[in-house]
Amino acid sequence: MQADREYFVETLRRLVRTPSINPAFGDGNESEIAGRVAREMERLGMSARRFEAESGRASVVGVLPGTGGGRVLMLYAHLDTVGVEGMEAPFSGELRDGRVYGRGSYDMKGGLAACLAAVKALRDSGAALAGDVLIAAVADEEVASIGMQEVLRHVTADGAIVTEPTEMEVGLAHKGFCWIEVETFGRAAHGSRYDEGIDANLRMGRFLARLEAHERELRESPPHPLVGPPSLHVGVLKGGAGASTYADRCVATIERRMTPGETEEGVLAPLRAIADALAAEDPTFRAEVRATLTRDSFEVPADAAVVRAVRGAAWEVLGETPVTRGFPFWMDAAFLAAAGIETVVIGGRGAGAHELVEWADVDSHLQVAAILARAAVAFCGPNAG
Ligand SMILES: [Zn+2]
Repeated sequence: MQADREYFVETLRRLVRTPSINPAFGDGNESEIAGRVAREMERLGMSARRFEAESGRASVVGVLPGTGGGRVLMLYAHLDTVGVEGMEAPFSGELRDGRVYGRGSYDMKGGLAACLAAVKALRDSGAALAGDVLIAAVADEEVASIGMQEVLRHVTADGAIVTEPTEMEVGLAHKGFCWIEVETFGRAAHGSRYDEGIDANLRMGRFLARLEAHERELRESPPHPLVGPPSLHVGVLKGGAGASTYADRCVATIERRMTPGETEEGVLAPLRAIADALAAEDPTFRAEVRATLTRDSFEVPADAAVVRAVRGAAWEVLGETPVTRGFPFWMDAAFLAAAGIETVVIGGRGAGAHELVEWADVDSHLQVAAILARAAVAFCGPNAG
């Protein structure tokens, strides 16, 4: 089963020419592209259903119905892109030297076009599958994943393949993260009044010195076999009103990258222990530790049915066993896994995600499309009747 090159290229170029900037990064939303994708799904014989988490923030789910009794497979892509500031021709969709250029070509309209080309390949081959094949094209992956969360309130599947670009490697895990605020409290006073002032910034210094030791311990702890060790960094530090005033508060915004198995509570506990120890040493030390956003990590067993289907299909298409690995960055895969859907990641080659020149390689995305189609046959089961 092969993917239709011309179909893939033209579909990808049309998707790139349809702006879908996440409103957090500029003017736009996913409404227009969702409509375009829904029409394309219907042309392929799928039923298409639109979900709007918020006005204009559209996701669309297409269903290629099976004959019944098989497992349901969801192919996943996100519709939104980051912004285009500084890009020369962000929506050109230019085809040059086997590459399609433009914002979102690589991250990840190439993956979406591969999902559509896979369904077309299934249709063209006349293969009748027992289980349904879904394509979920969702809004807002680049920011808060409202699209994925909305879709999962209405739609489920037995397995999912996330087609984020992975350079043809098979992803079995990714890290999660937790954003944490630590606030130290002091007492504001005129800069001359050391007898009255309590310096929140210096107290934050004490906290940060111990946090640095904790950070070293994290990176020296036994690494997760797929995603490496956990880590943290202090992204933002804010405290004080001016040179002549004792700072009454200081806030550190910390990002803690989590490995599979770690929990928010487990991540906060050592930070709270540092604050408690400092308070026990000095009654003027007071701090609060709180999580503001947590996104879970993701991991799937290497012998899960959807993983075996993808690895088998990749072997057939590529002629070699694909590399399996974990990824340090976060994906919607975590939401799929949390919804009880066995999930694996594979996507094509390219470059320039979130950069000024972005392109997707056509050949590898065609291979991804062929892998998706074959994996669907293996996972959803050929129709026995
Ligand atoms: Zn992406």
